[in-house]
Amino acid sequence: MTEVVKVTDENNNENKLLIDSFDSEPGYYCQVIRSMLTPGHETELVYWLKSFGLIPNTQICNNANINEDCNKIMEWTPVKTIDYYQWKCRNCSGKKSIRENSVFQDVKCNFKNSIRILLGWCKGYDAELMANILGVKSRTVKVLYNAVSATARKHLKSQQNKKVGGPGIIVLVDTYPEGCTNSSRPNQANRPILCIAEIKDIPPNYWFEALNRYHRNNVQQIMDVKEHILTVIQDVVVPGSILVSRQDSTLCSFFDLQKLSHIYPTIVSVEGLARHNSANQEILANLEIIWKLALNVCEEAQFFNYEQVPNFFISQMWHSRFGNESFETLLNRLADLQ
Ligand SMILES: [Zn+2]
Repeated sequence: MTEVVKVTDENNNENKLLIDSFDSEPGYYCQVIRSMLTPGHETELVYWLKSFGLIPNTQICNNANINEDCNKIMEWTPVKTIDYYQWKCRNCSGKKSIRENSVFQDVKCNFKNSIRILLGWCKGYDAELMANILGVKSRTVKVLYNAVSATARKHLKSQQNKKVGGPGIIVLVDTYPEGCTNSSRPNQANRPILCIAEIKDIPPNYWFEALNRYHRNNVQQIMDVKEHILTVIQDVVVPGSILVSRQDSTLCSFFDLQKLSHIYPTIVSVEGLARHNSANQEILANLEIIWKLALNVCEEAQFFNYEQVPNFFISQMWHSRFGNESFETLLNRLADLQ
């Protein structure tokens, strides 16, 4: 490191307590990240991001295709901006941001806060709340949340990664607010949500998907939502899983799911499960716990802005899949993009 460049930190003193408390997150964050977020360690953080692969390790000048002298790895040089460094062409005056082609490309805050936003996403923090803690614009948080969610969603849906269910594994399908509550009169003002849960372990492996609102007398709207649900099931539930749903569900009844019987040969109704007492009693007892956990997530989602709900679900699913390793796994997946 040749030069330490002084820049003003965006975080004011009022937020310091909030940030200190946020930074007390244990595990990988504490062991690896926290020391690099303290004053004086800014360049250390930038070097770490580069070596970890969260920002590119090399860059080639944009003029390389018109001038072959530019076709060399650019030079990493100190600069007086919040990034501390930039890439400079060794031939022409071409420059590149060290954020280019990274998840931070369009994120308008320093790297310390960017890393904190990644943790906030893993913890399911609302974008506004995260913006308040850090003293940055909520738009900044949303840009990074959207980028992270897109990567996480792709990973959760990838073939290499375990999706929901598997041959012979029971997968429950229902919608909120109709099916996931014990109330006989669910609140129709709530946004409908598709809940898919694998009944194997507690906590179960879930998939949540925000659905469009519909009027219960509008046949076309209901048909569209039903179509959407069938598409999501095929997308995330492993073929050969045993599908279970209620007979009287408006959006995904036992009868609606029969359209997928070529992919899921065994489709059972909850009522059918109840008729076979012995082995299924344990499953039925688990149903209540499973829906209670799903209900918490769906109700929390009602507090989010409409456009942030899908991001919230992805972060919840990410957390239920990776638990204490959510943050570390996320950093690794983001590094894979480089
Ligand atoms: Zn050049």
